[in-house]
Amino acid sequence: MEDRKFETLAIHAGAEIDPATKAVTSPIYPSTTFEREADGSYPQGYSYTRSGNPNRAALEHCLSTLEGGAAAAAFSSGSAAAASIFRALSPGDHVLAPDDMYHGIVKMLTEVFIPWGLKPSFVDFSDLANVRANLRHNTKLIWLETPSNPLLKITDIEAVAELARSAGALLACDNTWTPPALQPVFALGADLIMHASTKYLAGHSDVLGGVVLSRRDDEFFARIRNLQVLEGAVPSPFDCWLTLRGIKTLPYRMRAHCEHAALVAEFLSEHPRVARVYYPGLASHPGHELAAKQMRRFGGMLSFTVTGGQEEAMALAARVKLFTRATSLGGVESLIEHRASIEGPDSKTPQNLLRLSVGLEHPDDLIADLRQALDGL
Ligand SMILES: *Cc1c(COP(=O)(O)O)cnc(C)c1O
Repeated sequence: MEDRKFETLAIHAGAEIDPATKAVTSPIYPSTTFEREADGSYPQGYSYTRSGNPNRAALEHCLSTLEGGAAAAAFSSGSAAAASIFRALSPGDHVLAPDDMYHGIVKMLTEVFIPWGLKPSFVDFSDLANVRANLRHNTKLIWLETPSNPLLKITDIEAVAELARSAGALLACDNTWTPPALQPVFALGADLIMHASTKYLAGHSDVLGGVVLSRRDDEFFARIRNLQVLEGAVPSPFDCWLTLRGIKTLPYRMRAHCEHAALVAEFLSEHPRVARVYYPGLASHPGHELAAKQMRRFGGMLSFTVTGGQEEAMALAARVKLFTRATSLGGVESLIEHRASIEGPDSKTPQNLLRLSVGLEHPDDLIADLRQALDGL
């Protein structure tokens, strides 16, 4: 099975014909509890759904197959998945993280994990000298997000993995923007991958979830598994089932997301009301060459600044008719978002920046919508 192609694995990994009914699509197992044999054993390995559930096991198996990991733990949100990695560290440990990354995890590190005892610091990862200079004797984890959110900075994953190894730290990548096959970070030396499966993996803006994948089934992953089971931030069987259903079309959705984003980026980069486009697929992007080396495609997310300030950005977002003004990303529908106002008053994101999650509508329609909105500014 494992040597089959990605498109085939996305459909078949974790999807078995139900032996009891021969149902082609797997049943959903809402049961919270499972019967013991007369001798006290659990022949299928399931006893209580917080500890393990067939739908969750199928999702975890599918994701570790797709990423080429040794183990996976699914959570009720991307945030819960990220938290399990931080909590598997020890109070006093230093975490090195990028200065541009998903703001919810910055808030989590600052508001939850500093009081808990972690020592995070945030530096610009696009210059590796910053990463090297900020490693400490107690650095236990490097957290990486590339392309970063929302500025799409590109970091050299292989080089950071090497720095992590030399410091005796683990490298964890938030790969939410680059679902399996887009950026094979385990092959580049990462130890852990976190996905908000809420986004591209589930793919339809209708289920919240997260996963941690580990390159090795080791002692550190055992701590994450233990936190998953003891703290119980697990996804429901239906959430797992929905996410697995989404994954079946992931390879084809991602092709179109990436193709459409490239066309939209090109259009925007030529419009006089656009100041700057942040998309690693553009040759003008400072991280373009590096992105071309470590990404198979350039992704479906991009940001751009409009000429002017917050007022012009909000006016543009108000004028679009096909893009939906909403946060989140990775669904079939295109979204437009003013990031600075959702990130709050301490956001460093430019006030004239809008972020696009480019969806699966026809790219001509997406571009026409942006054109009428920009032309009317
Ligand atoms: C959405 C997101 C998260 C958090 O996931 P939730 O499911 O909302 O908790 C983490 N990282 C990135 C990059 C995200 O886009």
